[in-house]
This record gives sequence, C-alpha cells and structure tokens, in this order.
Amino acid sequence: MKLITTIPEMQELSTNWRVVTGFVPTMGYLHAGHLSLVQRAVAENQNVVVSIFVNPSQFGPGEDYNNYPRDLEKDLELLKTCRVTHAFLPKDNDMYPEGYQTWVSVDGLSKILCGRSRPHHFRGVTTIVTKLLHIVKPQNIYLGEKDFQQLVILRKMVQDLNIPCRVVGCPIMREKDGLAMSSRNKYLSLAERQQALCLYNSLQLAQELYSSGVRNKQEVVAEMKELILKQKGDIDYIDVVDPENLSSLSELVRGSRILLAVRIGQTRLIDNLEIV
Ligand code: AMP
Repeated sequence: MKLITTIPEMQELSTNWRVVTGFVPTMGYLHAGHLSLVQRAVAENQNVVVSIFVNPSQFGPGEDYNNYPRDLEKDLELLKTCRVTHAFLPKDNDMYPEGYQTWVSVDGLSKILCGRSRPHHFRGVTTIVTKLLHIVKPQNIYLGEKDFQQLVILRKMVQDLNIPCRVVGCPIMREKDGLAMSSRNKYLSLAERQQALCLYNSLQLAQELYSSGVRNKQEVVAEMKELILKQKGDIDYIDVVDPENLSSLSELVRGSRILLAVRIGQTRLIDNLEIV
C-alpha cells in the first residue's frame, strides 16, 4: 500500500492511471463499517484509494473536531490487510490554505434533518468530497447508508455537477446488539452504550408497527419517542422520508426510510432504517 500525503502527488498519480479506481473517503478511526466499504471497493476496482482526513469544515463551533478519535497507525494496518492500494492522508493546511474561500453546497437537502442543528455541516462535506473527487478522480465512490442524508446529498451533487463518478451506497454495519458502528461510539460510557441501543430499538419498533398494519407517521413517531425517552435519549429529530429526495412523508410505505438523531449524554448519534 502506497502512502500519499501531498495533493500534487495524488493528482499526478490519478491523472496517469489507466485502470478503474474506487475511492472511500473517511475521517479515520476505522471500524468494520468503514471496512465493508473498502472491501466492496477492493472487489470492484483495480486501484482503491482510501482517504483519511478529519475535515475541519464539517464541524461546527463547539462540536468535537479537536476530540475526534484518531489512530492512524491502526488505520493503516487495517487498510493493508484489506489490500488497499493507496492511502491518501492530506494535511489541513494543504486542503484549506490561508485565504481559502470556495464552497460547494447542495441547498435544499442540506437544510433539513441533520442540517437544522448542524447548519454548515453538509457544506463542509460537499466541499471536501468535491475536492477529493478532483484529486483522486475515481470512477466509483463508496459511501455508507449509515449517513443516509449525506449519501443522498452527495448523489445529488455528483448528478448536478456532472461529476463522472458512480456513487455506490453500502449497507449499515452494526454491532451484535444492533448499535450502528460509528467512530463516535468511543465517546459512550458503559451505561450510555446501553442507552444508545434505543436508536436501533426504536427503528425496530417502527418496523414492527408497520408490519402489524400501522401506517400513520405520527403514531409511529410517538411510540418511538416514548421508547427513546425511557432511555433518557435527547431527541434531535425523527422523520420518515422518501429515500430518493428526503421529502417528509405522512404515512409509512414500503421502501420509505426512517431517520433519527438522538443525543446520548454529550454524544450525538444518528441511525436509519428502510421500511420493508
Ligand atoms: P466517517 O469516517 O464517519 O466520515 O465515515 C466514512 C464513510 O464510512 C461514510 O461513507 C460513512 O457513511 C461510512 N460508514 C460509517 N459508519 C458506517 C457503518 N456503521 N456502516 C456502513 N458505513 C459506515
């Protein structure tokens, strides 16, 4: 596996590649969720680039940029075992040099759901992914459904900006008990780790209600809230949306997606489920 730390080096390599390249952007502190994307990329591409970059522009003031977990050595070991061909580790100052002032944003989709409480978050995500796509020039980019709103926004961006790249959405990897894997799970105390199960359990409850014939969103959301509040979860939002465009639905239908964000102690967690 080749380590690349500068933008010109990465760009020169990717400009001359004549083989299919898959790309997995990450913020590191890798877990099995990330590795599922990497494995899919390795199976479908000759070159696989994984970037590790904790992107400052997607964190708001007071959010966890400084504390975000990092373990580069372990990450690189994991990537080697997956037979990744290139790890790209750009530096903050190279990505955002002094005087940086260009932003990419997907207007409507970035304002709803997580965008309400994190107003500049998705602008940071769409900007960094645009930059990375220009630098790595992959034919395929692999993104997790764990961050479902991010996936829909990046699909829209690639389509609207005519970026010649296929967006591949990959399923959510979970711990045995259902908790969606996330680098931020590291913040949870033992007690909070138990409480955090309320996200997945409430999604399961929604599916059970749907399977037993309930269709009304308000009714389903009320039951989910009750379950989450019992575990002292602080709900940011729960919504049922159309998976293509994230528009809010009043009824659950097969294929609709339930998205939620809940704070457990100081840690904000997200999860989602497709209704089947
Ligand atoms: P992050 O390092 O959190 O920016 O995540 C990098 C990529 O991994 C994103 O496309 C995420 O959606 C994806 N990802 C994170 N957690 C999971 C998970 N539990 N299952 C599947 N994909 C995930």
